Amino acid sequence: MDSKVLPQVAKLGGTALDLLFPQKCIGCGKEGLILCSACQASLPRIMPPLCPLCGRPQLSGILCPGCVSWQASIDGIRSPFRFEGTMRQAVYQLKYRNLRALAAPLARLLNDYLSTGPLPGEVLVPVPLHRKRLRERGYNQSGLLAKRLGKLAGLPVVDNCLIRQRHASPQARTSNVEERQSNVAGAFICRDDRLKDKKVLLIDDVSTSGATLDACAEALKEGGAASVWGLTLAREI
Ligand SMILES: [Zn+2]
Ligand SMILES: [Zn+2]
Repeated sequence: MDSKVLPQVAKLGGTALDLLFPQKCIGCGKEGLILCSACQASLPRIMPPLCPLCGRPQLSGILCPGCVSWQASIDGIRSPFRFEGTMRQAVYQLKYRNLRALAAPLARLLNDYLSTGPLPGEVLVPVPLHRKRLRERGYNQSGLLAKRLGKLAGLPVVDNCLIRQRHASPQARTSNVEERQSNVAGAFICRDDRLKDKKVLLIDDVSTSGATLDACAEALKEGGAASVWGLTLAREI
């Protein structure tokens, strides 16, 4: 494009930009919404019965084998979707492609999930990034989700009380649960007592082993939280 045209376009604002670069659905590419209703309806849902602790599908609805001996600090984890297909794409775009506009429809999906099956929580806390990672990325995707969800659900968000002290190395998909837990154990501290006696709902984009959420829960309970549940958009099954 002619560089002289750009300032003119910028003056016209969002409408002109939308005409030049129409928004496309990240799932099917159709022009219009960033996540169209057909793609939202076909997202891979996690259906009950679930393991009451980790929230993975479990036929009997009792503790799954992986949770029987898990000394968890977290009271439970729930996720509406599997980390597959369009949901995987959505999380990736939100996290690494700076597609912050996705936070709005994704938070609505979380709110829909909460309104059909409420979880104990009177305050939302996003899983923090290490400050180095936050500087690189410029935003915390979990913070964006929590902020939007807080508005929809009418819940306050406390996002600067849980601190990530260590920058955990990326978790290999093949690593076992013990490795993952030692990778993040003690990685978080709760800086003050604002969450004392509060029922906390921890918000994150994806949960893999649950170790990160559990390490957060441990810190929050040391800080006096009454209960800590984890709500993530998606989880690896
Ligand atoms: Zn679509
Ligand atoms: Zn389980």
